[in-house]
Amino acid sequence: NGNSSLSNGTNIGYSTPNSIRSNYGGIYGSLTSQNALDDPRKRFLDLLRGRGDGLPQKLRSLEPRLIEQISNEIMDGDPNVRWDDIAGLHHAKKCVNEMVIWPLLRPDIFKGCRSQGRGLLLFGPPGTGKTMIGKAIAGEAKATFFYISATSITSKWIGEGEKLVRALFAVARCRQPAVIFVDEIDSLLSQRGSYSELESSRRIKTQFLIEMEGFDSGNEQVVLIGATNRPQDLDEAARRRLTKRFYIPLPSSEARAWIIKNLLDKEGLFKLSTKDIDRICKLTEGYSGSDMTNLVKDASMGPIREALKQGTEITKLKTEDMRPVTLQDFEDALKEVRPSVSPNQLGQYEQWNNQFGSLS
Ligand code: ADP
Repeated sequence: NGNSSLSNGTNIGYSTPNSIRSNYGGIYGSLTSQNALDDPRKRFLDLLRGRGDGLPQKLRSLEPRLIEQISNEIMDGDPNVRWDDIAGLHHAKKCVNEMVIWPLLRPDIFKGCRSQGRGLLLFGPPGTGKTMIGKAIAGEAKATFFYISATSITSKWIGEGEKLVRALFAVARCRQPAVIFVDEIDSLLSQRGSYSELESSRRIKTQFLIEMEGFDSGNEQVVLIGATNRPQDLDEAARRRLTKRFYIPLPSSEARAWIIKNLLDKEGLFKLSTKDIDRICKLTEGYSGSDMTNLVKDASMGPIREALKQGTEITKLKTEDMRPVTLQDFEDALKEVRPSVSPNQLGQYEQWNNQFGSLS
């Protein structure tokens, strides 16, 4: 029948949910490809409502409402990030490719002594590309991407965290290959003493560890990626399950230059000289990838602000008359966009990396 693709649990297509659409559409705003709701997803949701025979066995015992919410709010069938969108981080990309993407693409080869752990931790300051890497893994491996922030499991899904975790892993298993990305994983798997842990969070954590244990011992093409700015809060049980732990640091000067060029180039606005770029890179020491993106956005407003100041009306402004973005625009933007990571936070990441990191 028309639902046969669901019975084997692998063939359901989805569009990108609004909640996790990413912001790679252009420097002036968050334009993304607007995938229309596709039929397979509708078919899947209809099936859930009807609880028909085509529903994968693994999902039948779960509340349809939860699965529906996961499909709508957490799942992304088309993560639109590729390795080429991510500046720098060459070594991390190479290792992730070998340890995570190849096994997802070729489970038949990566078994036995070649089998890789299914848990990966990305740690480092905020805004350095951890989520981008998660999406790129899913994108490159043509996997379904599930994004959830660990704090939302306890806040937004009050009282349902445990059920949600169970349902999330079950849906991921039906959508293999799959990547489950848990942001702020420290808030879920922290080493707080049991006396101070709320009973409900303790139960969510236990369920989470059980699920991880389950897919680690099976043959499933599901990878869990945890991201954190606070790796030192993770307990030993969490470290044991997140077998590979990659430090994602602030971008190098070269990577910062790449971000500037890439973002401006996309809009045909790149006219800076090598000397200008060198100067901007010197001035942006300590900026994260996300700070750099904000800086470029602000600087690229320079020509518009100037034209308006000279009396041109916004409705009459012609793009062909606008001057290019200059070093001065960046110097002005630097006053507005300050680095978000303080230098003294960096030492603790390096220390943790030396002790527990995979690339140290
Ligand atoms: P994290 O998950 O580490 O907090 P994200 O991956 O969500 O950070 O990055 C936030 C934004 O910052 C991205 O959408 C992108 O615009 C920009 N960014 C961060 N790191 C990089 C990078 N290495 N290359 C290109 N853009 C980056």
